[in-house]
Amino acid sequence: MAQPKYRIATIGSHSALQIFKGAHDEGFKTIAVCKKGSERPYKMFNSADEIITLNSYRDFPKIQNELIKKNAIIIPHGSFVTYMGYEEVEKLKVNYYGNKKILKWESDRYLERQWLTKSGLKVPLLFKKPEDIDRLVIVKFMGAEGGRGYFLAKDKKDFYRKIKPYQLRKYVLQEYIIGVPLFIHYFYSSLTNEIEIMGCDIRYESNVDSLGRISARDQIVLPKIDPSYVIVGNIPVVVRESFLPRLIEMGEDVVKTLETILTPEEEIFVFEISARIVAGTNPFIEGSPYTWLKYNKPMSTGRRIAIEIKNAMNKNQMKKILG
Ligand code: ATP
Repeated sequence: MAQPKYRIATIGSHSALQIFKGAHDEGFKTIAVCKKGSERPYKMFNSADEIITLNSYRDFPKIQNELIKKNAIIIPHGSFVTYMGYEEVEKLKVNYYGNKKILKWESDRYLERQWLTKSGLKVPLLFKKPEDIDRLVIVKFMGAEGGRGYFLAKDKKDFYRKIKPYQLRKYVLQEYIIGVPLFIHYFYSSLTNEIEIMGCDIRYESNVDSLGRISARDQIVLPKIDPSYVIVGNIPVVVRESFLPRLIEMGEDVVKTLETILTPEEEIFVFEISARIVAGTNPFIEGSPYTWLKYNKPMSTGRRIAIEIKNAMNKNQMKKILG
């Protein structure tokens, strides 16, 4: 296979192992940019052809010129955006896969909501101030942090008691939807204008997913247990086939990843959108049942990205895929 002239680079975290594996499968060399001490997985799994070590991810812009010289294409993922902030990412000069402008929309919970509602999707109610809370709400802080610090509040008194440790942080008050949180991974090709469903996952979150292991009787005698939503890992899901037409339509409406909750009444509420690769794609390094149907060979989202880059190179349309 002819060696493509670009190298695939990303921060060593989140879904980098998958991204690098997909890049290797398609013949690209890879560069992992790691914080000191986090290099080992990228050596152990032969993922990185080269490792650049930083003291802090904030130093990323300092190694930009080195990456430009190496003809790197950065693949953004959740940690990349969280560690650097979308303003810093927007300023980067190095080749960047995808549309940078979209990051502002996914980082701001109000813009995100506008995007979803404009696409005609059903979203949970939002309360302007704690005094308005008239049902169970989930209190979320700005920026993706894998659910860290989120808490539930049933009224304003409950809210003011629980917000104490987080006084200075910006938050939103969102209606809590009881149902199954399902994460759907879409891939959108700006070369063909088509969306693909790459897979679905549910998350295992601490401690909310383990509360059901303690009986209500024991929960009552331990009144200090509040549910928390810190993500621990991702579990593959194959959704009921009759849901697929709706999921495909929803993806077409927004053309990116949706985080949804399916209620027993089969309503679908969309509570979040991530406009880059999500960690929920990581169980599918060998592909999901959906990618198997479409490609008949192992196909992860990381590999699909590498193929998109190759297709753009072959068609001389790199501008269409770089932001
Ligand atoms: P990431 O961007 O990594 O997904 P995040 O910090 O933006 O993380 P969310 O995905 O918005 O966090 O929420 C974290 C978890 O909180 C979800 O996985 C889900 O379990 C729960 N959750 C969020 N919103 C709701 C809601 N409206 N109703 C019920 N549960 C919710």
